[in-house]
Amino acid sequence: MTDVRIDDLPVRDELRGKSPYGAPQLDVPVRLNTNENPYPLPEPLVERITERVREAARNLNRYPDRDAVELRTELARYLTKTGKHPVALENVWAANGSNEVIQQLLQTFGGPGRTAIGFEPSYSMHGLISRGTGTGWISGPRNDDFTVDLAAAEKAIAEHRPDVVFITTPNNPTGNAVPRETVLALYEAAQAAKPSIVVVDEAYVEFSHGDSLLPLLEGRPHLVVSRTMSKAFGAAGLRLGYLAAHPAVVDAVQLVRLPYHLSAVTQATALAALEHTDTLLKYVEQLKSERDRLVTELRAIGYEVTESDANFVQFGRFDDSHAAWRKILDRGVLVRDNGVPEWLRVTAGTPAENDAFLEAVRDMKKEHSA
Ligand SMILES: *Cc1c(COP(=O)(O)O)cnc(C)c1O
Repeated sequence: MTDVRIDDLPVRDELRGKSPYGAPQLDVPVRLNTNENPYPLPEPLVERITERVREAARNLNRYPDRDAVELRTELARYLTKTGKHPVALENVWAANGSNEVIQQLLQTFGGPGRTAIGFEPSYSMHGLISRGTGTGWISGPRNDDFTVDLAAAEKAIAEHRPDVVFITTPNNPTGNAVPRETVLALYEAAQAAKPSIVVVDEAYVEFSHGDSLLPLLEGRPHLVVSRTMSKAFGAAGLRLGYLAAHPAVVDAVQLVRLPYHLSAVTQATALAALEHTDTLLKYVEQLKSERDRLVTELRAIGYEVTESDANFVQFGRFDDSHAAWRKILDRGVLVRDNGVPEWLRVTAGTPAENDAFLEAVRDMKKEHSA
């Protein structure tokens, strides 16, 4: 058989020579590299999921609720309760992870001949999904301290007139939140230029010191807030993301969603998890204090740390961040090298995992100064 590689296939030009997204999944004792929640779901919730899924299994001969009405109603209730802004069923859309939400938004508002912009370093999937949907990607600037350079961002928006603007707050991989006034200014700039859809990616907002930007939806029909159950809810394996926006945006994304995209098993599992919101958010409080401890201790050891409103911390600086990543790995702890020169990212784990990480970097620092 002849050896056939990707580039021997008639793949689209923009996919040639590219690699798929993926953090290394290495088998080491302490894995703090993908911003997952370290706590398994509590046993009563596991029981409730089992009950709900058993019920759903009895009807698997039928297609699921295409509009996921019960689930969207419960998500709206959760957002209303925690977001200081009333959100209704018509404002909410759900899909298989917020990555699918983002894909549907780009299929609806981006696509061939259109562009999207993000302010980098930021979540690399915004650019990758843009490429996958044929949307041109524009990499906007940040300042050296990883805050959004507002003047430069406004200039880039005016110049490129993008169809979609991504603002990740708290930002991944840097951890810092984007101030409300900056988001408002970028929304205004985007409306003046096009007008375009502005997607505020709040994947980590439950870990933030500040509030959600949901109240900004009032009177702003081109604003979308995207959320996920992968981080704060500790349910990365579930694959459930959602958005809140004007009902017209929810109607628009239905033009591109696959029919019955959200399985009955997924809907049942997510509904069970939402019944246990209060318990799950208690873990968030614990992770927030562990995150703050990582910031304090890393600084005490002598590292620079970017302010974090997320469940992870960006620390540096390293002459060779990949070599530092390797040294930490050699000490049994896997962190993330996002390709941001001089910096690495560590996810807040359990207190014991964080102790192991701090021990590893303390040891590395000692070796370095010896
Ligand atoms: C992890 C993450 C997501 C979540 O993606 P899911 O598909 O919901 O797991 C979205 N946005 C950002 C910025 C993230 O870091």
